[in-house]
Amino acid sequence: MRILVFNAGSSSLKYGVFDHAQGAARQVLKGGFERFRDGVCDWTVEAGGQREAGQAPHADLAAAVAAVPGVLAARGIAGVEAVGHRIAHGGPDFTGPATLDEATLARIERLTPLAPLHNPANLQAVRLARQVWPDPPQVGVFDTSFHLTNPPRVTTYAVPESWRAAGLRRYGFHGTSHKYVAERAAEALGQPVTALRIISVHLGNGASVCAINLGRSLESSMGLTPLEGLVMGTRSGDVDPGAFGYLHRQLGLTIEEIEAALNRDSGLKGLTGSSDMRDVEDRAAAGDGAAQLAINLYAHRARKYVGAYAAAMGGVDAVIFTGGIGENSPSMRRRICDGLEFMGLRLDFDRNQAVDLTDRAAPQIQAYGSRVAVLVTETAEQLQIAREVAQHLARPAAAPKPIPVAVSGRHVHLAADSLAALFGPGYELTVKKPLRQPGNWAAEERVTLVGPKGRIEHVAILGPLRKRTQIEVSRTDSFALGIDAPVRDSGQLDGTPVIRLIGPYGQIDTDGLIVAARHIHMNPADALAMGLEDGQIVGVNVGQGERSLTFGRTLIRIQPNAFTEMHIDTDEANAAGIGAGWEGEIVALEAHLDPGV
Ligand code: ADP
Repeated sequence: MRILVFNAGSSSLKYGVFDHAQGAARQVLKGGFERFRDGVCDWTVEAGGQREAGQAPHADLAAAVAAVPGVLAARGIAGVEAVGHRIAHGGPDFTGPATLDEATLARIERLTPLAPLHNPANLQAVRLARQVWPDPPQVGVFDTSFHLTNPPRVTTYAVPESWRAAGLRRYGFHGTSHKYVAERAAEALGQPVTALRIISVHLGNGASVCAINLGRSLESSMGLTPLEGLVMGTRSGDVDPGAFGYLHRQLGLTIEEIEAALNRDSGLKGLTGSSDMRDVEDRAAAGDGAAQLAINLYAHRARKYVGAYAAAMGGVDAVIFTGGIGENSPSMRRRICDGLEFMGLRLDFDRNQAVDLTDRAAPQIQAYGSRVAVLVTETAEQLQIAREVAQHLARPAAAPKPIPVAVSGRHVHLAADSLAALFGPGYELTVKKPLRQPGNWAAEERVTLVGPKGRIEHVAILGPLRKRTQIEVSRTDSFALGIDAPVRDSGQLDGTPVIRLIGPYGQIDTDGLIVAARHIHMNPADALAMGLEDGQIVGVNVGQGERSLTFGRTLIRIQPNAFTEMHIDTDEANAAGIGAGWEGEIVALEAHLDPGV
């Protein structure tokens, strides 16, 4: 499938053509128009190993989009089968790619107040492309989607209820880039992305850091808008919001003036007069004090976020640098990493100097013996968009079928050593009753959970024994215990908190405390009938009662002998007022994680 990808900004249009076959996308052309001015703009095209550049008589985005078919035809590229668009802000609802029909465009239009600088140009490009290519499907891929897995403690600003009700929350951007480089890093390390804690450091004109915990975005440094976080080319990053009142009172500035200056006249530009890191580095080396301060501030802020995200994930396996600065500035990588030795991260001098990114390489630049891998790779947002467009279009439409909903109470899965410590050496559990998932059963025995705030007695034990002890509680239970349990898929226990278990023989302190992520067990036959794949994320409506609710972000887990059934916990069941024998229905396909999650 041949896919044309657009990334439209207010003063530039970047585009690429990709051939997608057997799950892989290959770029066949890369082009751009920029600096629209007085009836002309600059253009570049790279295809077949050749790079051309010049000026063209296109004064705006519309003229540039209309010129693309001519550029493609002149290089023998005909027959575009799909058009992908980068869309900056997808709000809370666009959890994955979306086909851009009129209704969807209207929904995106309503999000304009959240991204007044970016979304209008993106939407204009979609409307223009629909005129030029009326037949192929047009698909939007959103910068925010990847971060919709962020938990409420990350997305919530501590502000009045009415502000939050008006939509004030953290989103995060650069999602396509962070997702691509995390998967690229995992591939280079030879491990599934779902087994790694990765910190992705994207340093371009815009810049953000993202914590990717076991394949999912946990947090990124950008917030409601792409202004929060790192120092950027022209954006300030983190600033005390008290600055608004101060500047208004001291300098008489309006909200619009302050906002414009924070977005366009701050960052490297505000500190040095230049938004270009190459200039800033050259000036600093020549002794310019303002440039030296800018570099120190830039690196300090980035290092602080890396440390913070390592703490947020309870550790880090890999740090990856990307974006124009991350890819090309050995000294900035060095400045950010120096000082992180305390968490087991050490750079190798020569590897850091000699980074070669040809053919999408992802070299490792950590020193021998460094506990944390450090990688560099070129980001490939357009390639990632092409992949996601192809996946989106290839996905069969789901044929809905009712799915039984089972409510899991709090329970424990024990490993052999925990069983011996709690019940005595050689002890064997007694089967009380089989569960619906074949081979699983509830035991007669019970244990007590103890946290710093309280204890929960008579907690069920489920068999058979597992490799690691896992304790599944509800969010409410975690407050009763006084321990913050993360939402995790079963078995993903690295970095989970420690809890005390008490049995009749003894007690243990063990990690493995989680709130189980809701999921649907499914056998291959049902999955086929419903057009679903392993690792897919769906929305499920549980619609029978007066508290009818649609649960988003529900993971499909396909296993050979599974009894098809959705598992939720008691908090979720209470929220939806669910009773025995209820059923849910899949109402949305949200995203896709790697199989084997
Ligand atoms: P965008 O976010 O617009 O895609 P890029 O990812 O291309 O931007 O990053 C642009 C930034 O990368 C600029 O600040 C530029 O100075 C910086 N950069 C590019 N090459 C180098 C280099 N060799 N050394 C330092 N900075 C560089």
